[in-house]
Amino acid sequence: MSKQFGPDYVRAIAPYEAGKPIAEVAREFGLDQASIVKLASNENPFGVPDSATQAMLAAAAELGRYPDANGFELKAALAKRYQVSPDWITLGNGSNDILEIAAHAFVQLGQSVVYAQYSFAVYALATQGVGACAIVVPAKDYGHDLPAMAAAIRADTRLVFIANPNNPTGTFISGVDIEAFLELVPPSVVVVLDEAYNEYLAPEQQYESSAWVRRYPNLLISRTFSKAYGLAGLRVGFGIAQPVLTELMNRMRQPFNVNSMAQAAAIAALNDSEFLEKSARNNAAGYRQFTQAFEALGLQYVPSHGNFVLVKVGNDDGAGARVNLALLKQGVIVRPVGNYGLPQWLRISIGLPQENTVLIAALKKALA
Ligand SMILES: *Cc1c(COP(=O)(O)O)cnc(C)c1O
Repeated sequence: MSKQFGPDYVRAIAPYEAGKPIAEVAREFGLDQASIVKLASNENPFGVPDSATQAMLAAAAELGRYPDANGFELKAALAKRYQVSPDWITLGNGSNDILEIAAHAFVQLGQSVVYAQYSFAVYALATQGVGACAIVVPAKDYGHDLPAMAAAIRADTRLVFIANPNNPTGTFISGVDIEAFLELVPPSVVVVLDEAYNEYLAPEQQYESSAWVRRYPNLLISRTFSKAYGLAGLRVGFGIAQPVLTELMNRMRQPFNVNSMAQAAAIAALNDSEFLEKSARNNAAGYRQFTQAFEALGLQYVPSHGNFVLVKVGNDDGAGARVNLALLKQGVIVRPVGNYGLPQWLRISIGLPQENTVLIAALKKALA
């Protein structure tokens, strides 16, 4: 009998399934890379902001040296933006890193973590990675059922993950409801509020989560530069929490987890409000374009507050995979979500108007 390596809980992990890269689809389906439309990973269709490219060019000259392990300038910029002290901020190699660090810093083997059905796949990975027990609370209308999540917290629960807006469903929880939830959670349980799509929220939906951090020592806000800021390939995210949590996070992170180019680009992007506004405007228009087309095609979708839409492409459990393949053959990459327990649905990122038009035409053909 061959020897098995690693703990049981590591062998039980199903690897993360990322969106297919453009080059891979071109190779597999014999297509021209330039003709492929990728709407699979909730990236910003405008790509990298020019301001960030300039900052990276300048930073490139210093790549022979290690990055600033404490990210002084980026933390200072974030601290100013969110009105907190720099020692309330943890930088991450993407916000994925923040989620992983939180699991390692706050949960030990055998304890439990609460998150919602149909919420971000990394919550399950981070939970399993520390050998913790997942308490998955059934979704309500494809979103978080916060009262049920509060009720699901056990004596051994150390962490709760909440995504707002949620991925892959796009659902949104109001600030009032989140605050009510924070009041219900025992102070010994850390709440990670993952706001990867916050910048896409309409002004009337915005709430000030950094103000809650001042009131709740068990709250950790997670944010990213991968979505609205257009820097997915660089891997920068950050957490905001009181020092009682941040100090522990800091012990668990790799000393140089955010590279020099990423730090420089993030500062530039943070100050590029024009790019952010342009991205939010394009997203709102693309959302209308998609949802009007889905309605015309008679397709059910979940109203979304992010830069993507979850749409139901059939009533049988083969529908998502089948329509996905038909789209790939036409050079359109979207995200099947069977691994989320949603085999009849596809998650489609909002692109530029022309990319959205290509998707809609390809979807019509795929469904015919
Ligand atoms: C995309 C996403 C993230 C993080 O992505 P990073 O690139 O690691 O910052 C985190 N949470 C949710 C819900 C996401 O959709």
